[in-house]
Amino acid sequence: MKKQIYIKNAFILTMDKNSQVYQSGEVLIEDDQIVAVGHIDPALVKPDAEIVDATDKIVMPGLINTHVHTSQQLGRGLGDDVNLLTWLHERIWPYESNMTEEDSYISTLMCNLELIKSGVTSFAEPGGQFVSGMAKAVSQTGIRGILAKSVMDCGEGLPELWQKTTQEELEVQEADIKRFHNTANGRVKVWFGLRTIFNATDDLIIRTKALADQYDVGVHMHVAEIKEEVEFVRETRGATTVQHLENLGVLDKNFLAVHTVWLTDEEVEIFKDRQVKVSHNPAAAMRVLGFAKVPHMLKEGICVSIGTDGAPSNNRMNMIDEMYLTSLIHKGWRLDPTVVKAQEILTMATINGARTILDEENQGSLEPGKKADVIIINPNTIDMLPLHDTIANLVTSMHSHNIESMICDGKWIMKNRKVLTVDEDAIIAEAKERAKSIYKRAGIVLPDRFPTV
Ligand SMILES: [Zn+2]
Repeated sequence: MKKQIYIKNAFILTMDKNSQVYQSGEVLIEDDQIVAVGHIDPALVKPDAEIVDATDKIVMPGLINTHVHTSQQLGRGLGDDVNLLTWLHERIWPYESNMTEEDSYISTLMCNLELIKSGVTSFAEPGGQFVSGMAKAVSQTGIRGILAKSVMDCGEGLPELWQKTTQEELEVQEADIKRFHNTANGRVKVWFGLRTIFNATDDLIIRTKALADQYDVGVHMHVAEIKEEVEFVRETRGATTVQHLENLGVLDKNFLAVHTVWLTDEEVEIFKDRQVKVSHNPAAAMRVLGFAKVPHMLKEGICVSIGTDGAPSNNRMNMIDEMYLTSLIHKGWRLDPTVVKAQEILTMATINGARTILDEENQGSLEPGKKADVIIINPNTIDMLPLHDTIANLVTSMHSHNIESMICDGKWIMKNRKVLTVDEDAIIAEAKERAKSIYKRAGIVLPDRFPTV
């Protein structure tokens, strides 16, 4: 017997190709799929359907975070007020290289909780330490995750544990794909990762793309993140990062380029021609001092989505905050309040996210035949009312606490702010202990901000 959930009386934002909105509409879910949206024929609703009255609520597709380091969740606060090389060599590498598989699992659970509470039903992880630990966590929390291993085959100062050959790095990823790809009813997927061009040989980059094509998955890589990266590639390979990747023949529609802060107009054209997907992470970009050419990329029709990056790069694993930042910073540096409009930001956070992770067929909008990934928003709070312009309010005045409930893959993940799939209090308690223990093992010592007694 197929189980139905019938949501009614809601303001519905479908994010379909016509950007259809219903002032008072319905969504009918059957098992893991959406079967009808809008003004629904009552005959479709079975007598035993679960009825959800969403009067005065907003219903929309779950948000898609296209770049989040789930394994770094317990490292929040390790990277504040330092430059990128100190961040990487003295804080993050020691932290990550001291994680166990169980740490990776708890870190991902903790990260997933924050994602769920901020409306995210689907995310892409660029490269954590243990895909096994991450996959276990995602299968339990009930949302969707594209996972990848942190992959590096060259570079100065790498911890001994991470000094691997190209062949070793590729073999372990293939093993992860065979073991975890398309598990948990298809919610867990595995892609290939390339951390940055500082730590990837040309051989690794070329072979990674070939294997991604063979397994029909994507490649997730940080690209043109800082100015020094572009200078490094120019010195060592004779071209800018994007031009070099183009020369290697790896830029394609299954290539997810993250940050892309330091791009020339010619490189934006290359992305457009190759249908490369872009993840814009505004908070992380601001930290390393750069403005991605998002207004230009959107105008060129490049698929730009939004990501939070990791906890030590942003400290807020919250897509709602990233939407708000995206709405502000481009207006500011372009001196033009009309760029990157609210509806474009909602597109970036939903359907463009689905395109970015190569799953537009199943995610990113509320349409019959798609997976039932739905959030219910309660806007009736002091900081979100009144709703003169509901679309703008979703970007400019919504907060995590407005995300009331979530369904993913047809199952309730959160109801009235309570996560139903895992024990939130137990995870928080365990995460606190593990964070302390990794910090100690890694030998990281943060400077005293103020003298303590
Ligand atoms: Zn990142």
